[in-house]
Amino acid sequence: MPGELLELTVAEAIERIRSGELSPGEYFDAYREAAAGDPLNAYLWTAEGAGADGAEGQLAGIPIAIKDIFCTEGIVTTAGSRILEGYVPPYTSTAVRRLAEAGASVLGKTNMDEFAMGSSNENSGYGEVLNPWDRGRVPGGSSGGSAAAVAGRLAPCAIGTDTGGSIRQPASLCGIVGMKPTYGAVSRYGMIAFASSLDQCGPLTRDVTDAALLLRALEGRDPCDSTSVGIEGGVELPSREDLKGLSFGVPKELAGEAEGIEPGVRESFERTVGLITELGGEVSETELPHAPHGISAYYVIAPAEASANLARYDGVRFGPRAKSDDLTEMYERTRHDGFGPEVKRRIMLGTYALSSGYYEAYYGRAQRVRTKIAEDFATAFERFDFVVAPTSPTVAFQLGARTADPLAMYLSDYCTVPMPLAGIPAISIPSGLAKPEPAGTQAAPGREAEEGAPDLPVGFQIAGPAFSENRMLEAAYALERAIAFDHAPPGNGEAG
Ligand code: GLN
Repeated sequence: MPGELLELTVAEAIERIRSGELSPGEYFDAYREAAAGDPLNAYLWTAEGAGADGAEGQLAGIPIAIKDIFCTEGIVTTAGSRILEGYVPPYTSTAVRRLAEAGASVLGKTNMDEFAMGSSNENSGYGEVLNPWDRGRVPGGSSGGSAAAVAGRLAPCAIGTDTGGSIRQPASLCGIVGMKPTYGAVSRYGMIAFASSLDQCGPLTRDVTDAALLLRALEGRDPCDSTSVGIEGGVELPSREDLKGLSFGVPKELAGEAEGIEPGVRESFERTVGLITELGGEVSETELPHAPHGISAYYVIAPAEASANLARYDGVRFGPRAKSDDLTEMYERTRHDGFGPEVKRRIMLGTYALSSGYYEAYYGRAQRVRTKIAEDFATAFERFDFVVAPTSPTVAFQLGARTADPLAMYLSDYCTVPMPLAGIPAISIPSGLAKPEPAGTQAAPGREAEEGAPDLPVGFQIAGPAFSENRMLEAAYALERAIAFDHAPPGNGEAG
């Protein structure tokens, strides 16, 4: 029965395929049909033909959804932007190539915030993505299409990119696992650049084992990306059942003292911290004194890099070209028509921060804050194996709730931005369900009172030192077993 096939984790599907119980063709078809029906606007393109039959490798027969920021030869790749409408890359990104070499087949390209700028997927040039837990809500962003597809049974697994939280935050809002590897673990070659010193590719999956399976195929040194080094010794599948001998620091700045964390998120976080102790882990408070400045530093550094990276979209080399006899006017019109408002805002912010006279005051200072944040983590990791925090301060919010207020939107990234600034890995796993903040307690403007809202997923984040992926997956695996989250959205969010 196709419905039942869609419930399998990647690891379960691999087992059935290996034992001959499940044919890769049947499995791919079930997903191709589901993806073609896409009630969530999670996809921008879906496969029409069959998957790679007879493929060999560790992911043989597994369909995978690819965020539309990864170049795929012969398949339109837009990065969620109208400026790349119809653009067909002449080559395939290393991440996608490696998955294919492991035997996986591209199932579709997923919707995303334009150039990965956003936390709700409402910045896509191709329409918003709906959250499978409640279709009146955002799936998070910018890898919202990937997260919604995996949670909504439209893909068994997906990849995305995380610059300031874009894998972990949508994973959290959709009740799945999302992992941002160490900067340099996975090649960025062929991944359309947003902020090159922060961007990392990583998996979005239904459980921790599946995240390990994907990361195992993805990681590795790539001569086409000089910043890639891979994970030494590769990735092992996790099997640990307790947390004995492991220590976890709870930074007060991202948990206890953080403002704007919903009561339901806080409760779920504290319950999960309790589970760590029950599993034999040691937990105590720690500090990351500069983490609260993460958002300010990030929203200088990321736009600065983006303003340089996006200068190449001028109508000459990629995508559509506006008509004009004058070259400068052609550039201007192409960029005016092609970029959405958030991208324009970031280009302006970034160009300003980099302009002569301001460079030191903004960009230079933000880089120094970034170093301080990295030092804070290094100090914490002298004492602790991991640092834990909520992934998102809130559960999935309603469509439109934050679009008018960029600052409220940027605060969605409060707990996820420090890790990429420090280059370290972090994983988000679902820790349970919670209601959105009840009426009368809203702190930020634009956050509407919520009566009769459904229970929504909460994410729990584990961060570790650079290249601690294997240990982190072990810890997340043990904790995931203890949490026993049911990752199937009731009714696929239809009633919501
Ligand atoms: N939401 C953050 C932003 O808008 C992070 C995006 C990302 O990680 N790509 O920049």
